[in-house]
Amino acid sequence: MSDMQSLASSITAVTSPFRHYLHELHERYQALNDGAVADYIPELTLAKPEWFGICVVTKAGQVFEIGDCDQLFTIQSISKAFVYGLALEDHGRDYVNSKVSVEPTGEAFNAIVLDEKTNRPYNPMVNAGAIATTDLVKGANSTERLKRMLAMFKRYTGRDHDINVPIFLSEKATGFRNRAMAYLMLNFGMVSDRVDETLDLYFQQCSIMVTAKDLAMLSATLANGGVNPVTGERALDERYVQDVISVMLTCGMYDGSGEWAYRVGMPAKSGVGGGITAVAPNTLGVGTFSPLLDAKGNSARGIKVCEALSHDFGLHLFNVAQPAHDLAECIAGNDADNW
Ligand code: GLN
Repeated sequence: MSDMQSLASSITAVTSPFRHYLHELHERYQALNDGAVADYIPELTLAKPEWFGICVVTKAGQVFEIGDCDQLFTIQSISKAFVYGLALEDHGRDYVNSKVSVEPTGEAFNAIVLDEKTNRPYNPMVNAGAIATTDLVKGANSTERLKRMLAMFKRYTGRDHDINVPIFLSEKATGFRNRAMAYLMLNFGMVSDRVDETLDLYFQQCSIMVTAKDLAMLSATLANGGVNPVTGERALDERYVQDVISVMLTCGMYDGSGEWAYRVGMPAKSGVGGGITAVAPNTLGVGTFSPLLDAKGNSARGIKVCEALSHDFGLHLFNVAQPAHDLAECIAGNDADNW
């Protein structure tokens, strides 16, 4: 993007009626106090229930931010989608598929369950499949593997990321279910024998600090075919973008994935830190942050925001009806009278 183009798009981003729309959405759902912050480790209970950020990044690189978009929180399970992309790049589709299937489970994210016939974990978006995926990240040692992962996130978001060390240590000290799953998979030859190193890496990847804006950059990059729309840097090989977003659509919201596909229809991934990243392919990425979670571990306000965006702008993948508003017109300010 040229300097003039990026200046033009940042001016649009400040004055556009779309910004006004997002502001109203934020106000509407700030009042919603359903759900509870995650409490399986003490550090996550420090999250403030009122925190709420919505960020949208378009394919053209326009950034719209409302509310707490600079508040850092841990990426948690959202990392799983992107590490899956890295594993695909490292090994190719066939090998990765031989270790992790792509079937929804209908079970909770931490269920200890493997496919009975093949012994593979069901999909890369639940913990068992994510641990198997993390095992596939190449690198001579744990430091190199972590560095490669952090470099990957930087390509997507355009900035460096830190790990929240107290959260990492708490995840590591209490992650007995994850440990059990990893050893069960070792028993079936689904993961290599560097199990403890992989578990550490998995707990570290969950503890990467991000903002709602980062989450919007992550999904906008996928929406833009794997290239960050602001920096122009490629984050994921184009061949694997479709793989990652298909699994996000069918499995990204855990056992809420079917209802999500039905109501929202945008490939997405949630995390217990309160984030959701959602992709409208070829159009935009959404990042939301609100730590109040529903019973399935998905952010309650985030779900509402994505549902409204999908409905109002026809972003559902299978939408064939005329949406209430035309996104491009709204962003450009041509239907300002409607807002
Ligand atoms: N660290 C969490 C775990 O492994 C991540 C789960 C999540 O975000 N759903 O249990």
